Amino acid sequence: MKYISTRGQAPALNFEQVLLTGLASDGGLYVPETLPTFSRDEIAAMAALDYPALALKIISPFVDDCIPAGDLKAIIDETYAEFRHNAVAPMVQLAANQWVLELFHGPTLAFKDFALQLLGRLLDYILERKHQKVVIMGATSGDTGSAAIEGCKRCKNIDIYILHPHNRVSDVQRRQMTTVVGDTIHNLAVEGNFDDCQAMVKASFADRSFLPADRSLVAVNSINWARIMAQIVYYFYAALALGSPSRPVAFSVPTGNFGDIFAGYLARQMGLPVERLIIATNRNDVLHRVMTTSTYGRQPLAHTLSPSMDITVSSNFERLLFDLYDRDGAALAALMRRFDTADITFSDAAMARARELFSSHRVSDEQTCEQIASTWRECEYLLDPHSAIGVAAALAVTDLPAGTPVITLATAHPAKFPQAVKASGLDQAVNLPLHLQDLFERAERFEVLPNALSAVQDYMAKSISA
Ligand SMILES: *Cc1c(COP(=O)(O)O)cnc(C)c1O
Repeated sequence: MKYISTRGQAPALNFEQVLLTGLASDGGLYVPETLPTFSRDEIAAMAALDYPALALKIISPFVDDCIPAGDLKAIIDETYAEFRHNAVAPMVQLAANQWVLELFHGPTLAFKDFALQLLGRLLDYILERKHQKVVIMGATSGDTGSAAIEGCKRCKNIDIYILHPHNRVSDVQRRQMTTVVGDTIHNLAVEGNFDDCQAMVKASFADRSFLPADRSLVAVNSINWARIMAQIVYYFYAALALGSPSRPVAFSVPTGNFGDIFAGYLARQMGLPVERLIIATNRNDVLHRVMTTSTYGRQPLAHTLSPSMDITVSSNFERLLFDLYDRDGAALAALMRRFDTADITFSDAAMARARELFSSHRVSDEQTCEQIASTWRECEYLLDPHSAIGVAAALAVTDLPAGTPVITLATAHPAKFPQAVKASGLDQAVNLPLHLQDLFERAERFEVLPNALSAVQDYMAKSISA
């Protein structure tokens, strides 16, 4: 399996190389050169598999001969044993044809665990084999940082540095990062905002001279291909549980960077009968605007009750555009270069193709709260604000073939966002799951650093493991 860049200029890579790379050298994102596909009979046979066995089936062709089958199986089994539900990704029914796929039973209570638990283990396996060590650096305003730290905490060959804006992340989210113990885990609380943190990460990737010569820098944001790959699995798992391939299904996906929903698109390209993919956004609606107007443009960031979807551009959308433009890397490179300085409008042909499969819906904070409240009233089921946006979008779709089940991806546990539950007028206590109930008693460890690149890089240089 070869991976190629959406902008057509960077060298093709194998799985091992793509795992250790973030952005391609031409500024594009890596995608598989050809997708593995499964026949209807092959998909029907997958219905008998439990989650780890299904994951092995779906993931193997992407990893190809980079990892021996027995080792890959062991890595996947260990990854999904970390999840605290026997089904790994269970489903709950809210109404006729309305289902919720619970993706929050991993260590940090958000769907990012599905990918980052696997990514940490894959990286460590490959680094061990190569006798190499790397540095992971990332900025977080919430979920990504804790999922990355949990995913890497046992990795001997990775020093991980996660920057968060000091005093500007929620208590639950900060504690999920800062209470993880380990010499290779570094939480840096920067006296600035999230954009300052992100700018420092970007600058460090651009000039890595502050690091020892034998260390490369690895990104764990959703431009990393392995994250997308891991997320394809649960689309198959949920559809199979509801009778696919005989029964087509639709998915509603709370979307920020378009990583999670892009995995659903790939599942369909691989043969899964997906009738529709619903892009559910909050007020940061760049994707809803592109679906309705064909124009892709930046607007100022809005802070919402669903902070993990607060973005101004959706980096993984480029991966879909690559297909919509018939995989013409040169055309896409020209388009994206223009987007550096201006809004861009996509061709009618490209957008017509997108609209055959995707629809979109924007949900305000007020509607989010209404959805949390009404689902609680009707089903005694508590949604987190991101999942509530997904459910609201699922209920807004009226043009699906009769009887099509709509599966909303529940991307986080409601206890991560108690303020949204409160804002919905519920006085329901939201308890953290048992394994996190002592979160507020655990000791925290983080380093407060001034808002200066040199301070962050000096700290990193002197604390990197030998
Ligand atoms: C990251 C995240 C999202 C958005 O996922 P994308 O892959 O960026 O679209 C949605 N909900 C939660 C809870 C998240 O943490």
